[in-house]
Amino acid sequence: MVKELLNRKILDTLWQPEEIFMLINSDEDDYILNYADSVRKQYVGDEIHIRGIIEFSNYCSMNCLYCGLRRDNTKIIRYRLMPEDIINLAVGIKNDFGISTVVLQSGEDNYYTPKMLAGIIREIKNQTDMAVTVSIGERPDEDYNIIKEAGADRFLLKQETFNKELYHSLHPGASFENRIRCIQTIKRLGYQAGSGIIVGLPGQNIKHLAHDIFEMQKIKPDMASISPLIPHPNTPLSDFPTGNPKLTIKTTAIARIVMRTPNIPVTTALGVFGTEFQTESLKAGANVIMINFTPEDVKELYEIYPGKNKQKKPPSMLVEKVRNMILSINRIVNTGRGDSYGFGDEIK
Ligand code: SAH
Ligand code: SF4
Repeated sequence: MVKELLNRKILDTLWQPEEIFMLINSDEDDYILNYADSVRKQYVGDEIHIRGIIEFSNYCSMNCLYCGLRRDNTKIIRYRLMPEDIINLAVGIKNDFGISTVVLQSGEDNYYTPKMLAGIIREIKNQTDMAVTVSIGERPDEDYNIIKEAGADRFLLKQETFNKELYHSLHPGASFENRIRCIQTIKRLGYQAGSGIIVGLPGQNIKHLAHDIFEMQKIKPDMASISPLIPHPNTPLSDFPTGNPKLTIKTTAIARIVMRTPNIPVTTALGVFGTEFQTESLKAGANVIMINFTPEDVKELYEIYPGKNKQKKPPSMLVEKVRNMILSINRIVNTGRGDSYGFGDEIK
């Protein structure tokens, strides 16, 4: 049935929720994963884009039930990097490793005013030709505007789930509508926009996941991230099971088939299950990988989920490992900007 659907479906048309559900509900995983790999090859080629990420603050005013950085987690030691440190790290990513995208990520931390963030971005842009991705959560439109004006190229703001009830049950005090509004503002301001979801949220089923991909397709993101839930011990979800890595990869594959052009990262959370899952994801639609450049002395504290950033390896070894992973599956290493391939303006 899936084969028949994929053969008949003209890829460049809007997918219906029931078609997406048919894919996710099917047991023909190998066929779906291989098909996603061929769509990836056709639309975004064999290159795998390497990005450098700097997690510059683990302070967060939000209380997402799954995340170790949540406000109510008092067991975590908090840190902030200062603007000059962030700038130097970013410049090093470019000058020492040739990597041309830096992702600046943090909890929702208003210590960093839009003016400060703009100053950091301007200086990175002064000193390098890097693309800058920002991932700092929800802000007023004016902040997004100031950050964009300073030269930020991309913004990553995952919706986490496109089911409103599920969203509200996991994000106390937050608004589903506001998050949607934020990503729309981000797009309107001309950022390359990244969206994404978590697989394995409590109360989530495959119908939700089909709906997630359907809604994400409508946003037309330049980047789409699909990661498994890794429950953190110091959160209300500590006793919940982890998201299924195989289902995460299958969902990634379906996201590739349905949306075709976005940059799709192999998420770091998937690496928790073993590097083989990361390679499998790269062979099922993913085309981006991130390397962590957060300084050694604080990186373990950016514990969104347990075990994250426990690897003591210096960046040079991490870069080498990623290069080898890419070459081992006969793909091409790309350390250029790796801009969006555009999204679906051709969609009928
Ligand atoms: N504070 C910003 C950016 C940092 S959090 C924001 O929330 O947008 C980055 C991502 O980490 C979130 O989008 C979420 O999808 C992911 N995340 C947080 N806790 C997680 C967990 N326990 N398991 C898997 N992913 C998690
Ligand atoms: Fe804060 Fe982001 Fe974690 Fe939510 S997911 S608690 S906003 S860091």
